[in-house]
Amino acid sequence: MKKDLVDTHNRTHRSLRISIVDKCDLRCTYCMPEDQHFLKREELMTREEIATIARLFVERYGITKIRLTGGEPLVRPDAVDIVRDMSRLGVSLGLTTNAMTLDKHLDGLIAAGLKNINISLDTFDAERFKKISRRDGFDKVHASILLALQRGLRVKVNMVVMRGVNDDEILRFVEFTRDHDVHVRFIEFMPFAGNHWGRERVYTYAEMLGHINSVHTVEKLNDDPHSTAKAYRVSGWPGTFAVISTVTEPFCGDCDRLRLTAEGKMRNCLFTREETDLLSALRRGEDIAPLIEANVLAKHAMLGGLPLFKPEKQEEVLHDLSERPMVSIGG
Ligand code: SF4
Repeated sequence: MKKDLVDTHNRTHRSLRISIVDKCDLRCTYCMPEDQHFLKREELMTREEIATIARLFVERYGITKIRLTGGEPLVRPDAVDIVRDMSRLGVSLGLTTNAMTLDKHLDGLIAAGLKNINISLDTFDAERFKKISRRDGFDKVHASILLALQRGLRVKVNMVVMRGVNDDEILRFVEFTRDHDVHVRFIEFMPFAGNHWGRERVYTYAEMLGHINSVHTVEKLNDDPHSTAKAYRVSGWPGTFAVISTVTEPFCGDCDRLRLTAEGKMRNCLFTREETDLLSALRRGEDIAPLIEANVLAKHAMLGGLPLFKPEKQEEVLHDLSERPMVSIGG
């Protein structure tokens, strides 16, 4: 019998983000700390364990949307098989990738049922790409975005905007929506362990919009319910852009998202410090349903219980942050 996962703030959860690996072939400064340690293979959920847990969320709890993330999911040799397993669950399926090896996997991913893809790109400048991701790769990623569009995938391009790093490229990314039916998402720089976050480094939603409006005629689009992004279009252009304003205008009121880390820990919010170990219980042959339900009931009203990311709260935010860096939570 299906049972909705409703928290104490009356939010029903329909979206599950599953990190399938904590490793990545890039080293982005806002995501991976310099001294990051990675999980051992036996600590990772196996393909079968991912399928078992995901099926429970879908069949018992009515999850209708799954996004596979990492680290970088495509560094996992069985990533395409996992996509196939998830698409057999009949959910809306997405994948977040840095596209460094997307060209090699695209045929398999499409054959496995993938239709939606989020590709991370923070600059159109190859040298700046190297600085942000501590690896060379702009040409590869750019070419893979164009290839994914050509192959008919619905492509979202995620840009983490950091003041003084890449905020001068906002218009370049908007122009990408003139030339392509692509959905660019500008993400306010968020605090995570080891990413040297400071409130002064946040280029805000209001600043981004002001910047774009100073050059283009922009129309506001209707946002999907539970969407994390506020969407817009430059009039007459095929593509669209949106802003994810977690720092200056958080959107927790109708959050329907839950997460699973690569080692099978459930997180009810991107910023929570509390986690529930589903994998160990599953491996002991225990029923994990009560653990899932208890985790949802413990969900904070907003930001995982952190204070608002205001300048005057910066110290408190950094002090109370989860120890888990972005790379092992997943986008
Ligand atoms: S911060 Fe947490 S509660 Fe708020 S929208 Fe994000 S995941 Fe949901």
